[in-house]
Amino acid sequence: MNESNPNQAALRIIPREAHCISRKQISSGALRVLYRLNEAGYAAYLVGGAVRDLLIGGQPKDFDVATDATPEDVRRLFRNCRLIGRRFRLAHVVFGPEIVEVATFRGNGGDDIDTDGDRQVVDGRIVRDNVWGTIEEDALRRDFTANALYYDIADFSVRDYVGGYDDVQRRVLRLIGDPLQRYREDPVRMLRAVRLSAKLGFSISPEARAPFTDLGVLLTQAPPARLFDESLKMFLAGNGLKSFRALEQFGLLGAVFPLTARALAFRGGETFRAVVEAGLAGTDARVSEDKSVTPAFLFAVLLWGAVRAQAEREIARGVESNVAWQRVSHQVIAEQAKHVAIPRRFGQVMQEIWTLQPRFADRQKKKVFRLLAHPRFRGAYDFLLLRAAEGDDIAELGRWWTRAQSTPHETLAEELSTAPSSALAPAGDAPKKRRRRRRRPSAQASAATDSQ
Ligand code: ATP
Ligand code: MG
Repeated sequence: MNESNPNQAALRIIPREAHCISRKQISSGALRVLYRLNEAGYAAYLVGGAVRDLLIGGQPKDFDVATDATPEDVRRLFRNCRLIGRRFRLAHVVFGPEIVEVATFRGNGGDDIDTDGDRQVVDGRIVRDNVWGTIEEDALRRDFTANALYYDIADFSVRDYVGGYDDVQRRVLRLIGDPLQRYREDPVRMLRAVRLSAKLGFSISPEARAPFTDLGVLLTQAPPARLFDESLKMFLAGNGLKSFRALEQFGLLGAVFPLTARALAFRGGETFRAVVEAGLAGTDARVSEDKSVTPAFLFAVLLWGAVRAQAEREIARGVESNVAWQRVSHQVIAEQAKHVAIPRRFGQVMQEIWTLQPRFADRQKKKVFRLLAHPRFRGAYDFLLLRAAEGDDIAELGRWWTRAQSTPHETLAEELSTAPSSALAPAGDAPKKRRRRRRRPSAQASAATDSQ
C-alpha cells in the first residue's frame, strides 16, 4: 500500500487453535468492550502490547482495543465512557479501577505523537494528523511488528499484517517500514526499542539498531514531556536497571540524560555507577513488592554525580557550602529539564534530598534532631544509604543514622550532649571540600556506634 513500508506482509490469520491466547487471560473490562462493540456490528480487536505480552506468556499492564467505530460511536455504546485527547480522540471505558482504551483505526501514518488536525510533516516529523483509517493502515503506523498484532473477538484468531507473529516467536523487535524514516518521524521510538527489549528480553533487529548511532541525537530535540513519560516507563516500571544498562549499551543515554552520561565517564564514574545501579535495583525491588516509587528519588540518583561534582567544585572555589549546594541543585535540574521534563514538585524533592546530604555529617545535638524531624528525612536517608559505595566514611554515616533512628530520643540526646561531637563523628565526611570545623577521623567513633 505504501512504498515506504517494504516489509509489509500479506495478511496472515493465526486461528485460535494455533496460538496460546485464551479469553481467560483478558481482563473482564476489555472483554466486555470487545463483545459489546462486536454485537453492535463493529470490528473489535485487542491490540498492541497486550497481544504481544499474552503471546509470550506475560501479564499485560493494560488492554487496548482497536475498532472501526468512531469515538462518538463508542460513547453511544458505553455510559461509562469519556472521550479524551485533543489530537486523536480516544475513548476510555471505565470499569471501576480498570480503564480500557478504545482507539479508532488510524490511517496514513497517524501516530501516537501529540498531534492535532490534519497530517503535516515537517522535517520528516509528523506534527499534525487526524485521519481515521483501515485496520491495515492502523497496523502499518505502529512501531514494531510485535506491537501490531490484532486479536479478533469475532473468531478468537490473531491477525498479522506485518510478520509480527513470527517476530514475537523469535523474540525480536523489528520496525515496521523504513527504520530511518520511522525514527525521524518519531525519535522516541528508539527509546521504546531499548525499553521494550529490556523489559521483554527481545533483541532489537540489526536494521532497527543500526540508526541509533546517527539518529540518537534526534532525541535531544524530542518534547521533554514525552521523554519524562518514557523515562517513567523505563525506570519506574520494574525493569529500571535493565533499561538503564540497555540505554548505555545502545549509546542513547547521553542524548536523554547527558549529565548522567558525563558523570559516569569522568573521574569517580565507577563509584557513581555503583550508586546509580543500587538506586535502580532498589526501585525495581520496590516495584516488585508493590511499594510506591517516586520519580523524584530516582532522578535525584541519576543526577547525583553531576550535582556532587559541581558542588565540590564551587566549594573549592570558595563558595559557601549551603549556597553552593542550593545553586548547583537548581542548575542541574534546569539543565536536565531541557531534555526530560521535571515537574516542579519533583524538582523540589530532588533539591531537598541533595541539599540534606552534607547535613548528615553534622552531629551536633540540635542539628541531629532537626534533621531527624525534617519532612524529607526519610528520602534523604535512603539516598545516603545508596551512597555507601562512595566510601567507608559514607557507609559509616549511614550506619550512624540508622542507629540514631532506632535509639530512644532521650538516650540519643544524652549521648550527643555527653560525647564530644568529634567522638561521635564517623571516620570521614564527604565531599571533602565541604567539611567544616569539627570533623576529625576517629577510631572511637566507629567503636562507639558499633558497640551499641
Ligand atoms: P507497554 O507494555 O510497556 O505498555 P506497549 O507496546 O503497550 O508497551 P504503549 O505505549 O502502551 O506500549 O503503546 C500501545 C501501542 O501503541 C504499541 O504497542 C504500539 O502498537 C503503538 N505505539 C505506541 N507508541 C508508538 C509510537 N511512538 N509509534 C508508533 N506506534 C506506537
Ligand atoms: Mg501498553
